[in-house]
Amino acid sequence: MGKGLILVFTGDGKGKTTAALGMALRATGHGLRVLVVQFIKGSRQYGELIAAQGLPLLEIVPMGKGFINLRAKEPLPEDKELAQKAWSFCQEKVGTGKYDLIILDEISYLVNCHLLPLEEVLALLRNKPPNLHLVLTGRQMPQAIIEVADLVTEMKKIKHPYDQGIAAQPGIEY
Ligand code: ATP
Ligand code: MG
Repeated sequence: MGKGLILVFTGDGKGKTTAALGMALRATGHGLRVLVVQFIKGSRQYGELIAAQGLPLLEIVPMGKGFINLRAKEPLPEDKELAQKAWSFCQEKVGTGKYDLIILDEISYLVNCHLLPLEEVLALLRNKPPNLHLVLTGRQMPQAIIEVADLVTEMKKIKHPYDQGIAAQPGIEY
């Protein structure tokens, strides 16, 4: 049995979710059962969501409403409720032992926006099944998560097409 790793993709450059999805695809090739919990994304027709319909080992569950207001001083009750629901779902899925790799996509935003206590995430990391790989993505990943991770990669922005006013392209951005 292999060792379940804790992997983090953070930073302000594009590629965090893309890297996690690439890993998901790779893992299914080895017969690993993969769950992606998307904490921010809603069920807009993201390419990955459509593609996963044809991949029995890859489950993607969008549990957000598409965005959260990063500038709000107080978390909105609606966002809190969604976050709590997504987190309970995630805890339950980790506990089932049904998955080999679970991706917590954009989890850092929940912690940074006070929608989820950091301690909850740390407890999940501490208590996860030993063989389960966990991937956490999102900008400004809290330092305490970085410290317990086995792998941390920071995506650094050099250029982004948004800076030139180029709109999001299907297959590249969503
Ligand atoms: P992706 O999902 O494309 O891998 P990501 O997960 O690294 O991106 P997020 O912070 O989750 O990035 O933001 C998601 C969206 O914001 C994507 O559409 C992405 O292209 C865009 N984005 C990421 N980095 C930047 C940036 N530095 N400037 C502008 N837009 C960005
Ligand atoms: Mg992302």
